[in-house]
Amino acid sequence: MLDMHVHLLGHNDREANRENIRAFLDKASRCGLKEIGFADHDYYWDQMNFPLIREVAADYPGLAVRIGLEAEYRPHEEGRIKHLLGQFPFDFVIGSVHEFDGWAFDMPEEEPIHHKKDADKLYARYFEVVTLAAKSGLFTTIGHFDLIKLFGVRPRKDILTLADEALTNVAERGLVLEVNTNGRYKPVAEFYPERRLVEEIRRRGIEFTLGSDAHCAQVVGRDIEEASRMLHQIGVHSIVGFASLEKVSYKLH
Ligand SMILES: [Zn+2]
Ligand SMILES: [Zn+2]
Repeated sequence: MLDMHVHLLGHNDREANRENIRAFLDKASRCGLKEIGFADHDYYWDQMNFPLIREVAADYPGLAVRIGLEAEYRPHEEGRIKHLLGQFPFDFVIGSVHEFDGWAFDMPEEEPIHHKKDADKLYARYFEVVTLAAKSGLFTTIGHFDLIKLFGVRPRKDILTLADEALTNVAERGLVLEVNTNGRYKPVAEFYPERRLVEEIRRRGIEFTLGSDAHCAQVVGRDIEEASRMLHQIGVHSIVGFASLEKVSYKLH
């Protein structure tokens, strides 16, 4: 099994030192993971230490340790992201939309605003930006595909209609979507993406990866087994990790 979305630095409340890297890799080994992917938020760039991760990883021969990045996608900042990606040979790059039009919508204090907005417009704008992220060509993976639901606000329009263009672009470019188990611990209390989207993603032949979005070592691998069983039940037979931006396939059984 694999967990391709963990944050060594958390919310920049932890250092990228040997002890902390070991804590993540020890937990991954205890969970029986085959592959773990570090994907810290790009805004903590100066605190990252990729060579040290590589060095510590050498002590874990049974675990493939990948180095990625979770980049904040803002349409006018593609150049900034491209510049970062040129600084290191990443294994994978997650493009995530946590904000649009200058609004960081996933902060807990933003919840009342979600309930006041027109839900259809909220979803439409979110997926418009996700579509641009998919089109940018910068990423291997789109993070938590339906993050906009995190406070439990649901659209009146069909989610498949709202997400259609984004999914089309993800499929055309061979991007991967993650089942991100962290949504269960948000007010919406379910994985990203929701079940109907997961089924539609499978139907379109888009490949899946798995991620806990752990911001501390204790939750590395959380609910990953359950997410992989769910994928298997709906007819997904393999999932992917990444090495040097190439997909690495794992059978599900
Ligand atoms: Zn994220
Ligand atoms: Zn994350």
